[in-house]
Amino acid sequence: MKKLSYIKQSNGSHWVGDGFPVRNIFSYTDIAEEISPFLMMDYAGPHQFEPTEAKRGVGEHPHKGFETVTIVYDGEVEHRDSAGGGGKIGPGDVQWMTAASGLVHEEFHGRDFAKNGGKFEMIQLWVNLSAKDKKAPPKYQTISNTQIPEVKLSGDAGIVRVIAGQYGDHAGPASTFSPMNVWDLRIKGGSRVEFKVNAGDTTTLFVLKGKVGLQSGEELSEADLAVFERDGDTLVFNALEDSKLLFLNGKPLNEPVVGYGPFVMNTEAEIRQAFMEYRSGRMGHLS
Ligand code: MN
Repeated sequence: MKKLSYIKQSNGSHWVGDGFPVRNIFSYTDIAEEISPFLMMDYAGPHQFEPTEAKRGVGEHPHKGFETVTIVYDGEVEHRDSAGGGGKIGPGDVQWMTAASGLVHEEFHGRDFAKNGGKFEMIQLWVNLSAKDKKAPPKYQTISNTQIPEVKLSGDAGIVRVIAGQYGDHAGPASTFSPMNVWDLRIKGGSRVEFKVNAGDTTTLFVLKGKVGLQSGEELSEADLAVFERDGDTLVFNALEDSKLLFLNGKPLNEPVVGYGPFVMNTEAEIRQAFMEYRSGRMGHLS
């Protein structure tokens, strides 16, 4: 049985550009090795946006050494990058962008969503790459709602939407560089859930909505992240209310994490190199 290591709460809120009112749940600057291969998680919204003709979001900026994974619950996000990737995602969709060797991109609300306004809620997760994969060319995966297997839990406890990894016989559509599970969970209040995981992996559970009771007696509320100990291969929890959760599990990379803002590498020298590449235009530009 997996034991709770601790409950991590938001580091505070800030706006990313004028489109994303986020709570930073964790970052490689506060927890790194214990959360590997994950690096950072921003929880945006839920926030009600008024209609606008303006372009809301964040303009051209670089990334190198990792992947950005955007999960939309409400609203629309449009993305464009210097490697030719781009697309618009809406509720239930996921954008999995591999920055790896470096690119620039922009992230805005979808034009129709901006025009009409409405409820906005998304998560952006940063997933680290091992030293060899940081050299890979950039890549972009649009994962639509309909591509994500929706698996019913036994006892009518709810559903697991497998974005990445595997639940039972169901594999998620995201292609990842290291083994991980990223699952969108909807659990009915009063249900007990049991997941098998690999002992030694990083395992966390984040609450977007609802309330969760852990075996050790602690309760998780909205915007709480439970970080579990590496030991043990069975995660058990109870949904105390109808709950919307994000389950993250993965094999730790066990490599040094040296980051500065949008660049996450293994050494200081590589960070200096990344700044040079960005300034000299080698990460490209958006036309
Ligand atoms: Mn970005």
